[in-house]
Amino acid sequence: MNSARACTAAGCSHILLFIPRRKVSGHGMLKTFHIRTYGCQMNERDSEALGCLLEEHGYTLAPGEETADILIFNTCSVRDQAERKVFGKVGLTKRLRRQRPEVIIGVIGCMAQEHGAALLERFAHLDFVVGTDQLHTVPGIVAEIARERSRRVATETGADDTEALSGHRPGAVSAFVSVMRGCNQFCSYCVVPQVRGRERSRLPEDVVREVRQLAGQGTKEIFLLGQNITAYGIAEARRDGTYSPDASPFADLLRAVNDVPGVERIRFTSPHPKFMNQAFLDAVCELPKVCKAFHIPLQSGADRILELMHRGTTAKEYLARIRHLRERLPEVGFSTDIIVGFPTETDVEFAATRQAMNEAGFDMAYIFKYSPRPGTKAAEKLPDDVPQSVKEERNQILLADLVARAESANTRYQGRTVRVLVEGESKRNSTRWTGRSDTNKVCIFPRTDGMQPGDLVDVVITRTTANSLFGCVAEEA
Ligand code: SF4
Repeated sequence: MNSARACTAAGCSHILLFIPRRKVSGHGMLKTFHIRTYGCQMNERDSEALGCLLEEHGYTLAPGEETADILIFNTCSVRDQAERKVFGKVGLTKRLRRQRPEVIIGVIGCMAQEHGAALLERFAHLDFVVGTDQLHTVPGIVAEIARERSRRVATETGADDTEALSGHRPGAVSAFVSVMRGCNQFCSYCVVPQVRGRERSRLPEDVVREVRQLAGQGTKEIFLLGQNITAYGIAEARRDGTYSPDASPFADLLRAVNDVPGVERIRFTSPHPKFMNQAFLDAVCELPKVCKAFHIPLQSGADRILELMHRGTTAKEYLARIRHLRERLPEVGFSTDIIVGFPTETDVEFAATRQAMNEAGFDMAYIFKYSPRPGTKAAEKLPDDVPQSVKEERNQILLADLVARAESANTRYQGRTVRVLVEGESKRNSTRWTGRSDTNKVCIFPRTDGMQPGDLVDVVITRTTANSLFGCVAEEA
């Protein structure tokens, strides 16, 4: 019989649903964990922080999922395809469970939040389901499962403990720092407000403290994360009565992070054009450590579609922001997110997207074929009426445009010297290093003695492709 009671994990007051499972021996010996991550950088960051929290509780990272005592899937609900992948993968772990009955298997993150206890019904071998606001309770939940051999669901919202999830793996050249959670925009196609809740921003001093710690450990690049990062601090300012449309708490945060000694570069994602006011534009243009490469979701270049998407901006307004940044910055790169085949999108509207992408000069974009997500306005109110073949065709057209634009944009780097933050060995060739330019171009160059990940080096570019720049370190040129 199922039962419910308060969680005993430190600092948690939520109710846990207990579903008894068959008895197995060996849970008391659990030592290692593995987290498999799907989806966006927010999920990557959550997995890293949860890994640190589990280590604080005495668990160690397993080299792979086959040997882990605790196997966790951190999941994404944003696309239908991503969900199907996770369903398939979790289904396959049934065999692992048969071979090693003591293993604890859990699903966390957006799919856990969206589907809750239904996941336990679907997968009889699954032990726990923990939603986006309850990640800090995972160590307690795992310990309870090991003790009581029952199943758990924790999906209560509004109880997240961001500060408990601020650990980092030491020694990284680049680190994600989460500055806010949730989103208040309710774009009509997006499940984020449902699965990640309303916007909650961390205090600037907590973010800066985390950045200082990272810089003190040698991290050179800080990647600030928030689903709607340009709205950082706005919900709180509205509540306090201090909101001003001319201010930008995110710009203030950028200035504070820019002042942290040891930080060389700052990147962030994802801004919303609606919140890119003058204060924000001034900050990103003026601050030397803010990289001049901006990922700004456009989604569509047709105003009727943008309205159906509830984006809150027009294509003209979007392009005006891009023009403004191009005029003020001698060197800048832009990337974006696009949805093709949104309900009712016509050929003419698709052509407007193609045109807007060309005008903005994107040389990188994530292009998605629309798929309705349950619980969203678009899924409820709009017909998914663009045939799959048309979505695919539009996708291919934009991808071909992107490759052509990237090839041409990268050719312009030939013979030039670019400042590169060394990240480490190239995956394809261990005699080469890889790193990125300020404008987020991947640069590959021969390894030289004495050079370390985290170094900033000047690379002379001798060859380019659509994806990368190749060259050698300036002294050797
Ligand atoms: S701004 Fe729109 S697309 Fe981005 S997370 Fe919020 S609702 Fe989703």
